[in-house]
Amino acid sequence: MSHQVIVLSEKEMPEVVRYYGTNKVIRNAPGVIFAAKTSDTSITAYRSGKVLFQGAGADREAARWSANVSISAVAKPKPSGATGDTLPANFASLSVLGSDETGTGDFFGPITVAACFVSSDQIELVKELGVKDSKQLTDAYMQQIANDLKEVVTYSVKTLDNAAYNDIQSQGWSQGKIKAILHNQALQEVLEKIDPVVPEHILIDQFAQRKTYFNYLKDESNIIRDRVLFSTKAENLHVSVATASILARVAFLEAMDQLSIEAGVTLPKGAGPRVDQVACQIIRKKGEPFLHSITKVHFANTQKALKLVYKK
Ligand code: MG
Repeated sequence: MSHQVIVLSEKEMPEVVRYYGTNKVIRNAPGVIFAAKTSDTSITAYRSGKVLFQGAGADREAARWSANVSISAVAKPKPSGATGDTLPANFASLSVLGSDETGTGDFFGPITVAACFVSSDQIELVKELGVKDSKQLTDAYMQQIANDLKEVVTYSVKTLDNAAYNDIQSQGWSQGKIKAILHNQALQEVLEKIDPVVPEHILIDQFAQRKTYFNYLKDESNIIRDRVLFSTKAENLHVSVATASILARVAFLEAMDQLSIEAGVTLPKGAGPRVDQVACQIIRKKGEPFLHSITKVHFANTQKALKLVYKK
């Protein structure tokens, strides 16, 4: 399916709305100010001035309004340093189910994994709602756009709380295995939700080699294997992974806010010296078992915090 995106000025937009007025359709999506459907083209106009044309007549209709119709769906070169599977040239414009996780390097709080399906016709809308490479986004910004995204995409978020994490970790599960199982579950849930629609590809932000990943899953009853691709920096390769990354992060932040209330102190992220100090305060105020209940106990921070407790 062909598609074109043009950007119009405030003056030009009403002309487009008037022109396609008799073909108007209702599309209640955030950021959309007007939508129409002709015999061979869907037209979606956004508040920002972007207009998306999709379908067999996309080039022709877009050319009515713009002298320099841009060709979208060009091959996106892999960002430097990305490793993993070789993706199709037009990967960024395909319907993809992506997944990513967060919280794995944070002493406090859960691990969260999100999977998210973005179909080719939702890509512009998702970008319009503010999805960029999440590594460039602030926590506040991600929290601000997450609700709109949740209305548009089909997603699943898995949160593994500290009690469950510590339990399986102490049984010898590696973080890799824990992540693989959560990714697999999240992907499975989204596939069930979008059924009978099937993504063209599944892209996992790579944290293990393919062989290792599937080895982690060997005891699972339902292993999502079909169409699965792996790449590092996958949030730059498809908006579905960038969106998954945002939803995982926002779930992590929400859990951190809740745990901060329970702990009576704002819990720092990461695993640095500030984390040791706050952990030490928490042991003094609420005891060691409470600290364990909100942390990944096997991190070196546990011992460092205990040292601080007995030092003073
Ligand atoms: Mg990742």
